[in-house]
Amino acid sequence: MGVRACRLCGARLEETFVDLGMSPLANAYLQPEQLSSMEPFYPLHARVCGRCYLVQLDDVESPEKIFADYAYFSSFSDTWLKHAQDYTEQMVKRFALNPSSMVVEVASNDGYLLQYLRAKEIPVLGIEPAANVARVAQEKGIPTLVKFFGSETAKELVRANTRADLLIGNNVLAHVPDLNDFVDGLKRVLKPHGVITVEFPHLLRLIQENQFDTIYHEHLCYFSLFTVEKLLASHGLTVFDVEQLPTHGGSLRIYARHHEDLTKAITEAVRNVQSLEERAGLAGLETYRRFKDQVHDTKRRILEFLIRAKDQGQTLVGYGAPAKGNTLLNYCGIGAEFISFTVDRSPHKQGRFLPGTHIPIEHPDRVREAKPDYVVILPWNLRDEIMLQLAYIREWEGHFLVPIPVPRVYA
Ligand SMILES: [Zn+2]
Repeated sequence: MGVRACRLCGARLEETFVDLGMSPLANAYLQPEQLSSMEPFYPLHARVCGRCYLVQLDDVESPEKIFADYAYFSSFSDTWLKHAQDYTEQMVKRFALNPSSMVVEVASNDGYLLQYLRAKEIPVLGIEPAANVARVAQEKGIPTLVKFFGSETAKELVRANTRADLLIGNNVLAHVPDLNDFVDGLKRVLKPHGVITVEFPHLLRLIQENQFDTIYHEHLCYFSLFTVEKLLASHGLTVFDVEQLPTHGGSLRIYARHHEDLTKAITEAVRNVQSLEERAGLAGLETYRRFKDQVHDTKRRILEFLIRAKDQGQTLVGYGAPAKGNTLLNYCGIGAEFISFTVDRSPHKQGRFLPGTHIPIEHPDRVREAKPDYVVILPWNLRDEIMLQLAYIREWEGHFLVPIPVPRVYA
C-alpha cells in the first residue's frame, strides 16, 4: 500500500480512530468442509482524516471479494419493510409525488422500497449492482438497472432523459469506494427542484454508544452530518433537512437539494444536529483520538466477564450471527471455548460457522435444549425483540448478556 489518502478530501491519513487488528470478512460464513482450509484475514483499521474528520477504513487487498457473495435481500425483514413503507408515504405527501414524477433509488436491492411507490403509479427506477438481487426486483415489475452507481451511470441516465424528482440512497454511502464520483453522479441525475434523501448510521451514535462492532470491511466510511454536508457541498448540493432515526443503532436521514434551489429553506433540525455534533467535539481531533481507549476498555470488560463466568462453570451461547457479532468476537478473541454455539433464524446461516472464530451456527430451538446460563445477544440493536422471543430462558434462570456499549446482564 502506498500513501493513504482521504476518500473525501484527499489529505494524507495519519490518525488512527481504532485498530481492530486482523479480521475475516464479516459475512464470510463457513461451510463445515472449509474449516480445514486457510481463511483470509484483512486489516480492520479505521482512521480519521485530520483535515475533514471523515472516519474511514484503510484500503484492503481484493475489495471486490467483499461483494462477490452479496446475498442480502431486504424484503426478508418485516421491520425494514415497515420503515420503507412509512418513508415512501412521507415523501409522497411532502414532495407531492405523482404519476408524472420520477423516483430513482441507488442500491435499490430487491425493490423492497420502490414497490410502495410503484403501487401508487409513480414511475420508479432502481439501480442495483448485484444481478441476482436485481432480478428479484425486475420480476416484481420494478424497472432495475444492473450497475454500480457513479458519474458514468449518471451520464447514461441523463442521456436517456431520466432525471429524478426524488433520488434515494439508503445505507449505500458507507459502501462507496469513490465518494466524489458517487456524489457527482447524484448531482447530475437530480432535477433542478429535485430532492435527494440519504440514510446512514450516525457516527455520533457509534462514538457515544461504543458501537465499534459496526466497523467491518464492507463499511468503508462512517459519517456525521458534518462530513456529509462537506461532501455534498463540494458538489454543489445543500442539506436542508435532517431526521434522527432509530435504525441501525441510530441513523440520520438527510435531505439535500441543489445549492441554486432556494424553494426549500434550511430547517431548524439541521442547526440542531450540527450543534449536537459540535458539542460532542466532532469538529476536532481529540474526540476521535479518545475512541480507541473506550474500545480497549470494553474488550477487557467483556473478557473479564466471560472468564469469570467460565471459571464458575457457567455456560454461554450466542443469539444471532450478524456481521457486527463477527467484528466483536474476532477483535476480542472469543471462540467456542467461551460461547459454545450461536443460533440464527436464517436457514442460510444454520449449519455454517462464524468466520474466524468458527463458532457453530445452530437452529434457535437449540437454546431450549442446551439451557445455558447466559444468552449473549450479538445484534444488540434488536435487544428488546430478542429478549421477548427468548423470555423462556427464565424457566431455568438463564440471563441475557448484551456486550455493547459495555457488558450488561439482564435477568
Ligand atoms: Zn479528509
